[in-house]
Amino acid sequence: MAQHVKPGSDSDQQQSSSDGENAPHVRVAILGAGFAGLGMAIRLKRQGYDDFLVIEREASLGGTWNVNTYPGCACDIRSHLYSFSFAPNPDWTHAYPGQPEIKAYLCECAERFGISPHLRLNTTLRAAAWDDTARRWRLATSRGDLTADILILGQGPLMEPSLPAIPGIADFAGVIFHSARWNHDYDLTGKRVAVIGTGASAVQFVPQIQPKVSQLTLFQRTPAWIVPRGDHPIPARQRSRYREVPLTQWMKRASLYWRHELMGLGFCYWPRLLRAAEPLARRYLASQVRDIGLRAKLTPLYRMGCKRVLVSDDFYPALTRPNVEVITEAIREVRAHSVVTATGREHPVDAIICGTGFHVTDTRFAADVRGRDGRSLADHWRDGPSAYLGASVAGFPNLFLLTGPNTGLGSNSQVFMIECLQTYTLECLRQMDQQGVECVEVRREAQRDFNAEVQRRMRRTVWLTGCHSWYLDAHGRNTTLWPGFTFLFWLRTRHFDPRPFTLTRRAALTPALSPTAPLPSQ
Ligand code: NAP
Repeated sequence: MAQHVKPGSDSDQQQSSSDGENAPHVRVAILGAGFAGLGMAIRLKRQGYDDFLVIEREASLGGTWNVNTYPGCACDIRSHLYSFSFAPNPDWTHAYPGQPEIKAYLCECAERFGISPHLRLNTTLRAAAWDDTARRWRLATSRGDLTADILILGQGPLMEPSLPAIPGIADFAGVIFHSARWNHDYDLTGKRVAVIGTGASAVQFVPQIQPKVSQLTLFQRTPAWIVPRGDHPIPARQRSRYREVPLTQWMKRASLYWRHELMGLGFCYWPRLLRAAEPLARRYLASQVRDIGLRAKLTPLYRMGCKRVLVSDDFYPALTRPNVEVITEAIREVRAHSVVTATGREHPVDAIICGTGFHVTDTRFAADVRGRDGRSLADHWRDGPSAYLGASVAGFPNLFLLTGPNTGLGSNSQVFMIECLQTYTLECLRQMDQQGVECVEVRREAQRDFNAEVQRRMRRTVWLTGCHSWYLDAHGRNTTLWPGFTFLFWLRTRHFDPRPFTLTRRAALTPALSPTAPLPSQ
């Protein structure tokens, strides 16, 4: 028999067993201690749940805001919106929060809401498998096995760095690292540095390293649409007002939310609106970059918004400095001390920094989570990731995803979507407890219909206007973003509707409720 782990005890690590039979048991296991997992833990705690663990592979919490420590790392969504609705922070120092400040905020939330005893840091989830007989998840971690009634996946989609598959790159004799695994031990001062990629991360760290290095060679495959950021310190007087009159901060947050929501009109409904914004971005580029040749290289040829629109005040100016060269020719190979482009031009470098993004639609993690039929999420997602409301996957009972397929955003705060999915999960747990339901599993047809609707709506979005982006899977489908206003997602997730689910009661061994029948109290 499984035994319950007392949250805060280390018994889960001490009582591991190889067969999992005597593994400790928790009601809820949460994977990841970033905004999603940590926020879920806080909200469970506030609802009176205590029997849960948060499994985090890193030595500290914070998720992406813990591992991304590159110079200039910051969020491109404003501080007052990029935070938990239930834990406003009146002390944000800047309009846009920097990584250290976001991480400090998350650590402070963990402390304030008493989550620390539930955290299992330095613990990697190696495999998760649904045991249909015991009706629980069997989890194998780097620090032992455990079982859980409910498994909540809160690890974000931007966790597995993607390194470019360039011939010879493995034999590079200098220093090479990915932006999400910044090598702080390596001093870039006076070095010849190649940067591959011009995405959201590169535009933040390039201006930071440019003054230090002797030569910066920036390899750009596709130019991004870039608009001014307009960051500024939040005056102390303003911060005091937010602290003394919380309503003022709430109003600020609301106005930011609706401003971003309005942008959703262009992204999700009328991409033509974004075309109207393109001349503004081009004018901004022209004001920053005098050199016509460089300007041409930096001018995007696809519809604004199709790839993530970047915000930066210092990227273009950095590219105009004498020690920077922007190379648009494809990279042919990497040699021991250089990068060689298609025409054979050789660029001698001491270091290569890859700002080349992440495995998103091809995440390796999906191979490690096995459902009722023993097949993995990766097997189920061979035709592209899909879930019901981004949260539930047919064949995977009692599994909840907090940053699942089609829940990403191109124009608003991801924390909003994460909170929607936390609410949804909590609502489901509440109903399970109230009704004595042991298992919930979304029906395949419901998942299929939902995704058909998502893909139908996707057709009119800017993300399918012809560019190549990490939003798209191998089949060219956008399985990453939510194709609509975020308040519509909120409307669909603020309650748990059991009708698309098969619910199994505790005492019964077979589904007690017809898949289409609502729970008795509904
Ligand atoms: P990214 O946006 O995926 O950008 C990767 C860059 O590397 C692109 O310019 C890409 O070119 C290039 N690239 C990839 N493989 C390459 C190859 N083999 N050869 C040459 N170039 C290659 O990655 P990221 O900048 O790390 O950002 C990822 C996501 O993280 C962002 O979109 C955003 O959602 C998130 N992020 C958010 C913030 C924030 O402030 N909220 C900050 C940083 C990151 P192509 O465009 O041609 O593919």
